Order: sequence, then structure tokens, then C-alpha cells
Amino acid sequence: MDLDAILKEIQEEIQKYFTKGKLPNYIPMLAQADESDFAMSIITLDGEEYHIGCSNKKFSIQSISKVFTFTLALEHYSKELYKRVGHEPSGDPFNSLVQLEYESGIPRNPFINAGAIVTTDCLASIFEDNAFNEILDFMKKVSGDQNISFDKNIFISELGHGFQNFALINLMKSYHNIKNPIDDVIQIYFKQCSIMMTTKQLAHSMLFLANHGKDPLTNESILNESKAKRINSLMLTCGHYDASGDFAYKVGLPGKSGVGGGIVAVVPKKMAISVYSPKLNVYGNSLIGTKALELFTTKTGLSIF
Ligand code: GLN
Repeated sequence: MDLDAILKEIQEEIQKYFTKGKLPNYIPMLAQADESDFAMSIITLDGEEYHIGCSNKKFSIQSISKVFTFTLALEHYSKELYKRVGHEPSGDPFNSLVQLEYESGIPRNPFINAGAIVTTDCLASIFEDNAFNEILDFMKKVSGDQNISFDKNIFISELGHGFQNFALINLMKSYHNIKNPIDDVIQIYFKQCSIMMTTKQLAHSMLFLANHGKDPLTNESILNESKAKRINSLMLTCGHYDASGDFAYKVGLPGKSGVGGGIVAVVPKKMAISVYSPKLNVYGNSLIGTKALELFTTKTGLSIF
């Protein structure tokens, strides 16, 4: 299969969608992204790489970070973690408060904001003041690249405007599902969201999930096979919030998006893919990124179904 040619075809076919979608403005710094950016990277388990567009440009990974913090927390807490965060799709937007109240402060899953904030709280309990550095070190390990950091301006922008997330964490604190001081936890959460990565780095960082928990390029075991299966299942069922069904229906791969415009996806036992295009659809997922992945699985037949 000529993946370079397929990436070129995808790049041509997505051009007509650049007029659609919107930059997010609830985090003002994200509204400054370049609307015309597009990148797509594929890395196979045997290390072949295919890239198109601005695949060396860094963007904030936002909710894609939730996959990595959950992986890290699952390693330390195992099943205990599911007492504080569930594993069912929410059917609600990523920052919704509604369900959280009638489910007594236990978020439906770790890939909506509430669930990710609880996950970060769990990491803060283990790593204390070093929690963000541990998250960053983990990102460096899974991407095989030491050159990863967070963007202070994006962090500050969200800290000044993330009112919905403050509401979520306060509500969960009132239900005793946040153990650390809310200001500490929310800051770690906003920092993890403002980690900057390229599609190339993100594709590498997903390879362990395509390979039963082991990075095929470094041979390093990141987590066991059963946990890797569970994280892939969560990405398939919850990775795109209330559009998770639509993403599974159209793309047919486990995936996770972020409001920074990135999406990662896993083709089990074969490859990891990452796409970037900053304009979003109404669900807060990259509009062109979703389209590009749909075209990819249609053209290659490489979906899990
Ligand atoms: N930092 C964003 C928020 O908490 C992440 C949301 C997302 O990427 N969907 O609102």
C-alpha cells in the first residue's frame, strides 16, 4: 500500500472543508491558531514513517493528554481507579456539569473533562509537587523525544478563562472526589492540556497502544496487554465525547481528540496516526482531522471493523 500517495490524496480531498468549522474561543490563545494548518503523520510498528503538511509544527495537545494521564494513573491505581471515574460513554459535551450532579460527582469516563480532572487529582496524590513533571517525563518516554514542554501562554489563557472546569472541580470536591487542593489540581490539569507536540511526536506516543502496551520502536513496556486493551476501548467509546459514536461510525478506529485541533488514532497491531487542523466541528473535534481519518480508513480498509 502506497501510504505517501494516500496521504497526498487525502490532503487534496480535504481542501474543500477549510471554509468550514470554527476555532475555539473559550481559550483565547487557541483562537490565534493558523486556520490553514494541516498535518498528518503515520508511524508503523516497524518504524516506517509517513508525513504530510506541517508535521513538525507544535500545537497544544489539550484533551489528548487525557489518554496519557489515565495510562499513568491506571499503572499506579489499577482497578481502584474505577471507583472514582467510570468507563461508560457520557453522551454529553466534554465540559458538561449536568450528569455529574445526579451521579454524585463520579465522572462517566476519564476522557471528559471531569474524569480527566479526577485522574489528575489521583496523580497529584502520588507524585505531589512533582506531578506535572512526571506527566511531562511520561510524554517524553512514550514519544521517544526529550524535546517536549508546555506553552505558558496557553496555560495562563486557560487558567484565566476555564470557568466551566472550575465549576466541575468544585462540584466534585463537594462530593469528596477531589482529594487535593483544587487550585493545585486545576493548574496541573491546565498545564497538561497546554503540552505542545507535533503530529510526528504524537503518532510515536500512540504506538504502545497499537502494540499491546509495548513501544515497538524502543521495546519498552509501558503497560500490560489487558490495560492497553481497556484504554483502546475507552478511546473508541469515549474519545470524542458526544460524537464518539459518530467517530466510530465514520472512522472505525480508537481515537482521541483535543480542542487544540489534534486527533490521534490507533490501528491495532499495525500503526498509529495523528492529524492536526485547528478548526473544530460543533462537538469540539477537529473537523478536517475527522474527515482526513475517515478518508484514510475508507481508502485503506484499515479500520477495526
Ligand atoms: N483544556 C480543555 C478544557 O479543559 C480541554 C478540552 C478538550 O480538549 N476537549 O476545556
